[in-house]
Amino acid sequence: MTSTLPNDNIKNFDDQITNKLISEIIRDRIKNAGIRFSANDNIADFINHGELEILEKEVASRVKDLLKSLVIDVENDHNTQETAERVSKMYLNEVFKGRYHEQPKVTSFPNDKNLDEIYTVGPISVRSACSHHLVPILGECWIGIKPGNKVIGLSKFARVADWVFSRPHIQEEAVMILADEIEKLCEPKGLGIIVKAQHYCMKWRGVKEPNTSMINSIVRGDFRHDLSLKQEFFELVKQQSATNNY
Ligand SMILES: [Zn+2]
Repeated sequence: MTSTLPNDNIKNFDDQITNKLISEIIRDRIKNAGIRFSANDNIADFINHGELEILEKEVASRVKDLLKSLVIDVENDHNTQETAERVSKMYLNEVFKGRYHEQPKVTSFPNDKNLDEIYTVGPISVRSACSHHLVPILGECWIGIKPGNKVIGLSKFARVADWVFSRPHIQEEAVMILADEIEKLCEPKGLGIIVKAQHYCMKWRGVKEPNTSMINSIVRGDFRHDLSLKQEFFELVKQQSATNNY
């Protein structure tokens, strides 16, 4: 497809022959690999070094078009002159960085002491956006672990949660994706996750309910099979929530 955008910077210079936009080149790579690229999928493996900067220019150009379609005078309104660039940067490197950037490095260690008591980490702040309206989902998350053969540092749970949630999501799927990533990293015998979040598509628009939150949880492994372990997990989280006044 030929570019209709005026700025040559938004094209990949290695691909001038096909004259494709960088987003099209990345999309073709993903399609050729037969991989899904929904809003809450990470696509970092398909973005080569230096291409994110080109994508940033393409997205900024599209955001500028959006502002123009909203009949905002981006040429003369000093408040919105740089908005397109800011929004593009914010999407690719901050609020949706979990799509475009690789997972933060997490080193796991062997569980030498054979720890098998459960522990919980939380509350961990989670920031996301709903896939339907691209407005914020803000909340907290608790993770419970019954260790298996590998352990990871406590702060790593927050880093991985931040990476997973920094994508457009629906809350139910975000929790499942986070559970999958934690299972990959430390192969726990049991895993439980609870997320409590407020959705700005309910607060800011739509029904405009300012105080409604959504809580959902997932339990896997021993937490699923052993009822007393599951109860212990929820009890520990309740204590953490009370201590933190949430
Ligand atoms: Zn929404």
